[in-house]
Amino acid sequence: MQEILIMSENTEIAEALLAWYRENKRSLPWRDRHNAYYTWISEVMLQQTRASAVIPYFERFIHDLPDVAALCACPDEKLMKLWQGLGYYSRARNLKAAAAVIVSDYDGSIPSSFETLLKLPGIGRYTAGSIASIAYGIRVPAVDGNVLRIAARLSGYQGDIKAPQFRKVTEAKVMEWMPDGQAGDFNQALMELGATVCVPNGRPDCGSCPVREKCEAGLHGLTDRIPAKQEKKERPVIHKTVFVILDGSGHALCRRPDTGLLAGLYELPNTEGWLSREQALQYVADLDMEPLYIEQLPERKHIFTHLEWKMKAYRILVKEKQGLNSGEKMFFVHPGEEENYAVPSAFGGYMKYTELPEKA
Ligand code: SF4
Repeated sequence: MQEILIMSENTEIAEALLAWYRENKRSLPWRDRHNAYYTWISEVMLQQTRASAVIPYFERFIHDLPDVAALCACPDEKLMKLWQGLGYYSRARNLKAAAAVIVSDYDGSIPSSFETLLKLPGIGRYTAGSIASIAYGIRVPAVDGNVLRIAARLSGYQGDIKAPQFRKVTEAKVMEWMPDGQAGDFNQALMELGATVCVPNGRPDCGSCPVREKCEAGLHGLTDRIPAKQEKKERPVIHKTVFVILDGSGHALCRRPDTGLLAGLYELPNTEGWLSREQALQYVADLDMEPLYIEQLPERKHIFTHLEWKMKAYRILVKEKQGLNSGEKMFFVHPGEEENYAVPSAFGGYMKYTELPEKA
């Protein structure tokens, strides 16, 4: 597959990219205050989220957990709260698991070796390459979706960019391009080009691209065909009914199981299927609560990677302090206590209804 990347002078590409990067790189907190911990945390946060959206999460995270030791000692509830809104919570759990290994096996210092980094929980080739090259200047590739897209467009490759073989070839090509002593800047230049010029959604800004003269897709008008679109798999749809239950002094929350989707996080009470108003009232009555008021809320959906929730919801005011027969799973949260509970964004659209309705 080596022939899929037909490149001219490696040094021309490297020089053009580096000159462009130095002129155009965005000022980002993890770039401006450089260390391996910041690189690691930011790269993990950036895996599913745009840089501009990550900034406040990053700032809050490093303010509360300024180093590996603090991350290692952080209670799970607090960690989930710091991660709330970023999604894919297993990433936060892996960060803490890796921090524990770094503290116990590496005296709290993040290793610089690509191979050692790869052995840490949650660290794959891209993240290991980013930390090793950006924080320690080690000459290794950091190939993510952005770099795969750029490589495909430069070479005119119309196959599946997620194919392991294409990643392998791209990593090898990045190593051919990468000049000595500039691994961190070079990898970041590719990432920056993918984030700001050779973008994944919408037209790439080929007119501003430093490597346009070397680019097969740009020169031959193929940017809408490369990378090739993959057939999207249908996601299963799960219908749910969500309850915003208020007892006059607080609202009900439940803790999700310790394993599976959104493990260990907190959620508004909910059940599978779409319940009618009467069924919803019965649901609450079955919890030994006496409903005083019910209001239907707007429907919402939430898309996970592998499934979709379609949610119908009711806000129900119940008589204060009723015996709950749902064991310890459900409890009432009172004003000022919300900060203790990480509620995933799937329920975020309903959290504003946890305020008492004016006419209740
Ligand atoms: Fe991407 Fe256009 Fe640059 Fe090619 S010329 S790498 S398609 S931005």
